[in-house]
Amino acid sequence: VLRLESVRKTFGSQVVLRDVDLAVPEHSVTALIGASGSGKSTLMRCVNLLEGIDDGAIFLDGSEITDPRADVDAVRRRIGVVFQSYNLFPHMTVLENITLAPRRVHGVGRAEAEARALELLDRLGLAAKAKEYPDRLSGGQQQRVAIVRALATGPRLLLLDEITAALDPVLVGEVLMVVRDLKEQGMTMVLSTHEMGFAREVADRVCFLDGGVVLEQGPPEQVFGDPQEERTRQFLSRVV
Ligand code: ATP
Ligand code: MG
Repeated sequence: VLRLESVRKTFGSQVVLRDVDLAVPEHSVTALIGASGSGKSTLMRCVNLLEGIDDGAIFLDGSEITDPRADVDAVRRRIGVVFQSYNLFPHMTVLENITLAPRRVHGVGRAEAEARALELLDRLGLAAKAKEYPDRLSGGQQQRVAIVRALATGPRLLLLDEITAALDPVLVGEVLMVVRDLKEQGMTMVLSTHEMGFAREVADRVCFLDGGVVLEQGPPEQVFGDPQEERTRQFLSRVV
């Protein structure tokens, strides 16, 4: 579904991503791990075309999205994004938040958009909250609504950037459960996380970023169980 080839990203004189190669097959989950500032969020922002890259190429379903002629809106429609802060619109109900993009961007009719939103909400155990405003929901519920919103447009790929970082430990579980369910349903995902236990459990591949370099990647058993690089070992011994 997604492929990065020798991606390079700089901010001024700082190289934030250096020759990043990454392949994300359909129905797979890739976890990006690495210290703060290692480039995880930047990588995802480049995939969503929120940042331009300086060199290399990014492909979505085989076509190059970093081609200057690529249709940015069309690309973003095929990628769902959820960030650490859920960014729900406070003045809109849960249902309005979710149906906004399908109606405005995709031209889906109101009835159809709402039916689909309610189905997704139901699947995530939030059907009763459809008419509530975000501030009446817990952090975990808000984050699940943000996930529903990202799913509402039927994306090919979901980018989840530290979606549990702002949550109480108790609420983390319910959000992680949703990610587990999505994986079971075959959703292709790239996520960044500081929760190594979760990465180990849910990811098919783990990618360790160190100063903008993919230092090591492989199945979780390998990266966590038998890291090949000293820097990976150091990182894991600090966070686990
Ligand atoms: P964290 O775990 O803290 O979320 P991260 O791995 O997501 O960290 P990034 O946010 O990708 O790290 O940041 C990578 C580097 O790029 C950092 O050194 C950061 O200061 C720099 N950076 C990110 N965004 C910008 C920007 N808009 N302008 C300048 N530098 C930036
Ligand atoms: Mg980040």
